[in-house]
Amino acid sequence: MKYLGCAYYPEYWGADRFETDAKLMQAAGINIARVGEFAWSRMEPKEGEYTLDWLHQCIETLARYGINVLMCTPTATPPEWLTSKHPETCLVRADGVRAVHGARRHYCTTNQTYRRFSATITDVLTKDLARHRNIVAWQLDNEFGPELSWCFCPDCQARFQAWLRERYGTVEELNRRWGTGFWSKDYTDWSQVTLSNDLSSYSSRTLDSKRFWSAMMIEFAEKQSDIIRRNTPHVMVTTNGMGPIYSHIDYYKLFAYLDVACDDLYFDIGTMDANVCAMNIFRSIKPGKRFWVTETGSGALDHNKPPHPLQFRAWAWSSLAHGAEAHMIFRWRTCLSGQEQELQGILEHSGQPRQRYKAVQNCFLELRKHWENLQDLPPPDAPVAIVQDYDTLWGYEASRIGSSVKYTGLVYDVHKALWRRNIVCDLIPTDRALNPYRLVILPSTMMISQEFAERLNLFVRNGGTVLAIGQIGMRDDSDNYLPYPGPDHLQELLGIRIEGGMYLKSHVEADEALWEPAPKSRDIEVGITGVLGAKKVHGSAGTWVADVSLNGASFLMRFTDGAYAEQPAVVSRQTGGGNAIYVASTRLDTALFGEVLDHALSQARIQHGIATPENVEAIRRANVVFLVNHTQSSASIPMDTPREVMVGAYRAGMADLGPYGVCVLRY
Ligand SMILES: [Zn+2]
Repeated sequence: MKYLGCAYYPEYWGADRFETDAKLMQAAGINIARVGEFAWSRMEPKEGEYTLDWLHQCIETLARYGINVLMCTPTATPPEWLTSKHPETCLVRADGVRAVHGARRHYCTTNQTYRRFSATITDVLTKDLARHRNIVAWQLDNEFGPELSWCFCPDCQARFQAWLRERYGTVEELNRRWGTGFWSKDYTDWSQVTLSNDLSSYSSRTLDSKRFWSAMMIEFAEKQSDIIRRNTPHVMVTTNGMGPIYSHIDYYKLFAYLDVACDDLYFDIGTMDANVCAMNIFRSIKPGKRFWVTETGSGALDHNKPPHPLQFRAWAWSSLAHGAEAHMIFRWRTCLSGQEQELQGILEHSGQPRQRYKAVQNCFLELRKHWENLQDLPPPDAPVAIVQDYDTLWGYEASRIGSSVKYTGLVYDVHKALWRRNIVCDLIPTDRALNPYRLVILPSTMMISQEFAERLNLFVRNGGTVLAIGQIGMRDDSDNYLPYPGPDHLQELLGIRIEGGMYLKSHVEADEALWEPAPKSRDIEVGITGVLGAKKVHGSAGTWVADVSLNGASFLMRFTDGAYAEQPAVVSRQTGGGNAIYVASTRLDTALFGEVLDHALSQARIQHGIATPENVEAIRRANVVFLVNHTQSSASIPMDTPREVMVGAYRAGMADLGPYGVCVLRY
């Protein structure tokens, strides 16, 4: 780890505090402060009048205390004078109502006036601040995305129509690709085609709307990045993402243009397996590079559960273990006013360093003592890749099945099963190279391009293992079902034909109606039995099952009941040196999925990691093992004798972890 820091709001606290704050930060082990992302009205109080002296003074004060700066463009919160004079810069919601000033992220991403003002403030700031060598990176805006709503204004509609024209050429081709023949949806002119985020419209239209909004946000980010790079080419450019899986913007494309992937990762918002999934995603977004945690909490978010001081330490060690290069706290001091006045900073409202400051200080000084020995370790070795495809995600969200088959939930379930085995995985887009992996998992990847299928084929022929689950290759890239059996382009590799499928809801009883679920209406499970390796295995499937016929694959397990009784439930097919396994349901019970996963892992010759109790993680990086206990119970993990106990306690063949304990062993 290289940077330990916090978000700092000098425009709010004023110059009187700069010296005091910088001194306290230094004493807490902080060496980076994020500054400026909401400060536009203090940087440019009137149009074209810039007041940046306070900013220079702040950055210089931080420099004197050895503190670097992650400087931000302030475009997340336009000043009142801008939106009053140019109300068209505010976004329009789906119901046609324009957002009013007073929140944040209420601007229209495509509006040319907003883009011009954003370009100007970014140009002025980057030129004016270029001399400060302690600015090590620029952050664009803050948490890009539809915080209030995506925009439906006339500018966005016109850009959407131009974007569609470029994609489809003619309205007739758009009609053909979207399959508009049902419910009289044919278009005759581009001006008729408007944005939609509504399940009552064609799913193709909603899918393309989601692609468009993501593309516009990325275009905005790229134009802003170009200005920064022109004025300060030596400084990294980034933005702060969210997630594990952030569903509104294709982060693989967004961060491809930026220098480092950053996540605002509030460990208390998600379960620990979701937090680890987030770190695995942000490590995967830019392969071979470290990720940054640009925000996490040291105290309670709003008036909610505060972390235990030792739990805060466990999160920071987990972040370091997973390959973070920065771990930053939101925020330095609890605000007195505004929308987030209950969200606890490191300092109290009073500005005094109390318990949270001490917890941060203890943790950061400990991390700094060790990071020289740990920061050059290679990233964790990931033998498994989970494919995380934005087209599939948006396809599910755009169609009504999204409420039944939660795509992100499928990805998280697969990730959790790997994490429970302490096996590190990457989460990759479909265009990523597959050769670094031994097992590639496709959780209901609905859209399979020929190009991706060919690479999957090559991967298996060369000895790799593919585990495909559920609704694989059943739709085209406009979110329409295929008019022929699936999986598209993968019939040979998987050795199957998917003719259709069935959602597993209970049948309508005599005393109930389909539309008014009685207590009896419920999701049902269907049994599965068979042999994996040499082991007899039973379990159940839920949510959706596929109607599969064999096309060269071998039968491993079959459904025992339901409409598809005796039909294939789990099959596999050898190709070249590798193997492809297909699971004919979107959801297996946890134990059964564990058996199928273990079978795939054994085919791929991947062993489980170090055995640990639930929510105690073990991450190996080269010759160092990190053990982090995220629970309130003590845990003892049998471990070989290390060369050095770097952190924590080891005795008599056991690493001893107290509540939220950490142990780092070098071999
Ligand atoms: Zn707009």
